[in-house]
Amino acid sequence: MVENTPPFNPPPEAAQTLLALMHAQGEVARLSEREQLFNSLLDSVNAVLWAFDWETRQVLYVSPAYERIFGRSASLLLADYNQWRDAIYPDDLDHAERTLADVLVKGAVEDREYRIIAADGQVRWLSDKCFINQQSEGQRVIVVGMAEDITEKKQLEGELQRLATTDVLTQSSNRRHFFECAGQAFERARVEGTPLSFLLLDIDDFKQVNDTYGHPEGDQVLQRIADSGKAALRRGDLFGRIGGEEFAAVFPGCPPEMAMQVAQRLQREIQRLSFSHEGQTYGITVSQGLTGLNGEDSDLDDLFARADAAMYQAKRQGKNQIVLG
Ligand code: GH3
Ligand code: MG
Ligand code: MG
Repeated sequence: MVENTPPFNPPPEAAQTLLALMHAQGEVARLSEREQLFNSLLDSVNAVLWAFDWETRQVLYVSPAYERIFGRSASLLLADYNQWRDAIYPDDLDHAERTLADVLVKGAVEDREYRIIAADGQVRWLSDKCFINQQSEGQRVIVVGMAEDITEKKQLEGELQRLATTDVLTQSSNRRHFFECAGQAFERARVEGTPLSFLLLDIDDFKQVNDTYGHPEGDQVLQRIADSGKAALRRGDLFGRIGGEEFAAVFPGCPPEMAMQVAQRLQREIQRLSFSHEGQTYGITVSQGLTGLNGEDSDLDDLFARADAAMYQAKRQGKNQIVLG
């Protein structure tokens, strides 16, 4: 049975109010839908969008990715800007603050990168671009920004840099990287008037190792000689594989008499190494040429040429020795 409800017949003013209310409710629903849409959009971006009141040092807005990237609560950050500062890697704090202040002068700072320590203890790299959002003169200064997590990109860059500078077989500096660093050390020594030594090392009769035991065995010899070379160095010294079976070292701040001691230690160390291949044991010797920076050297090549000549003299004199050039 259908109930007979009396027709709803409100007075005209009430009808208008009701219509306005329904309209407002629709509007609120639409806005909340849009807000949800924005939030989900912002959440799917691996970047934190933020707005900051420069004068009051208050974070006005931070997007949901903040909690994911920083591992901290967004509401705590909205209550206290120091939450963000406290997360910054201590060595990078100065830089992060200085570049944030730069935005007042420049209007935009797009090359701002620093590290943070997330709540889980992980160090993350951020690219945190920022911009001034001031509609008119005299209005309060709002800085808006976008902090993107670039940790993976940084790791990849680091790996590429490592690959570009390292010799694959011996994991020491490759020729190009060694000479680049050696050139810089040379320039510093000349400007500062400090000593510097250059050492060249070439394995004796290495061709015979390859011919007798095979190329893979030769490779292992190269690896162990490189390990000995790296172990002989002190902090700040440079070492690299500059040719097939040729290595070089630079000792900044070290006169040749002191570098000679390092070279002698290395010479003994290599002589003590014992290699074995299919039951046969054998040893390796090296020849080294050493030289020190003098007032007439105009570039690194002068030292390189002298060390090379000294090394060849060591070869001529019977190998397994060090010659000072
Ligand atoms: P010396 O005592 O006069 O230095 O003689 P040597 O036999 O060491 O010198 P030589 O220049 O005649 O030969 C160097 C050899 O090094 C030749 C080459 O096959 C070998 N070599 C160069 N690069 C590599 C490498 O990456 N792996 C191996 N196994 N051998 C290499
Ligand atoms: Mg050789
Ligand atoms: Mg050689």
